[in-house]
Amino acid sequence: MSEPQRHALVIGAGLAGAATCAALARRGWQLTLLDAASGPAQGASALPVGMLSPHVTRSPTPLSRLSGLGVAATLAELRRLVPPGRGWQACEVDNRGHDPGRWPAALVRPAALVQAWLDEARQLGALDTHWQAAVHRLEHHRATGCWHALDAQGRSLARAPMVVVAAAWGSHDLMAGASGLMQADDLPLRPVKGQMSLAALEGEPLAPRPQRDSGVYVPLYEDSGLPPAWPARLWAMGSTYERGDASTDLSDAAHERNASSLQAICPAAALRLREAAASGQLRGWAQVRCASLDRLPLVGAVPDGEALLAFMAQAGSRRGRVPLGDTPRQPGLYLLGALGSRGLTLAHWCASQLAAQMDGEHPSEHDAALLRAIDPARFAWKRARRQPTG
Ligand SMILES: Cc1cc2nc3c(=O)[nH]c(=O)nc-3n(C[C@H](O)[C@H](O)[C@H](O)COP(=O)(O)OP(=O)(O)OC[C@H]3O[C@@H](n4cnc5c(N)ncnc54)[C@H](O)[C@@H]3O)c2cc1C
Repeated sequence: MSEPQRHALVIGAGLAGAATCAALARRGWQLTLLDAASGPAQGASALPVGMLSPHVTRSPTPLSRLSGLGVAATLAELRRLVPPGRGWQACEVDNRGHDPGRWPAALVRPAALVQAWLDEARQLGALDTHWQAAVHRLEHHRATGCWHALDAQGRSLARAPMVVVAAAWGSHDLMAGASGLMQADDLPLRPVKGQMSLAALEGEPLAPRPQRDSGVYVPLYEDSGLPPAWPARLWAMGSTYERGDASTDLSDAAHERNASSLQAICPAAALRLREAAASGQLRGWAQVRCASLDRLPLVGAVPDGEALLAFMAQAGSRRGRVPLGDTPRQPGLYLLGALGSRGLTLAHWCASQLAAQMDGEHPSEHDAALLRAIDPARFAWKRARRQPTG
């Protein structure tokens, strides 16, 4: 039986995968969503509360431009899909270190947005979900033009002509097998563990609004939709930033690092953190962020490493002038990842752009420049242009 062409597998049901499902469903695509976990938002997107706020710089950078677009787009999605108080609340944040000043922001529980996007895709009749479906390998069958998602025993879990890999750090292994890359650093993904410290808020908050310096102190977050495992009224401090660590265990040392960062922001809150740790009231949450080498996300069609080498050999001495857009790509294989510490800001804008790209649309000149900055082929392309000829 032939597959409908506008059918995609989406691997990963966090912010990236759910935003992709919603963006493609709104365009009339059929989606098969696979995740190794038993339900949505169980990786980094299980974060109890995160900060949505702009990244401001004196002169614009790709990240500050992305963040400006992304914050506005995500806020619009929150207002459209999630009732305030049941997954998010608008606020302001006092930045004390970088970008000093008071900025508009929102406190968000990412799982609420993930659920809302998946509900939207389901209501459009577009979504089929497979839980506890760990994808071990992706295999392209030229005869049918389909990608197969295979489990560890080599059995096909699902297939479709298109795949979006949105598996955060899990994308690293999947990509290495699927894309015939020249070197591991052609798609340079890195794990960065983070631990947040939090506890139920008894009494009054210790600051009028969130404070950011080295980490973010949230004096009060209230969310009637928080799962029963978490207090519905809490304070939080986070998060640690442990490069190269892909573990998720909690540690007292990481709580103490959060306490030291908090000491510089609000000494009374640091005392509260240490007292909660001593009395066993302190809660923690740890997960792995996925970041790229240049800290920008990876969004778009995955390069074909072997075809790129052949293409550059043919270009010979003109290889230094080959534009990024000419990089050969894997047919129907896309990536949305490396959202780092900014999944809330980036997921929706990136997924909307990816969906337009998968539909063959041409971006505006303004968006095209940003899309080049986040093109997953940028690393392989740069390296291949520098490769000696002959
Ligand atoms: C401590 C901490 C604090 C943070 N604070 C903020 C904040 O304040 N603001 C903010 O915007 N962001 C914050 N972040 C980052 C944010 O959580 C992430 O950017 C975002 O959740 C990433 O979404 P994702 O969908 O890419 O990844 P994830 O939510 O991790 O989803 C990836 C999914 O892929 C699945 N998967 C992986 N491999 C496979 C496989 N082989 N087969 C099938 N499924 C697979 C996983 O099970 C998982 O469900 C924080 C992160 C941490 C850890």
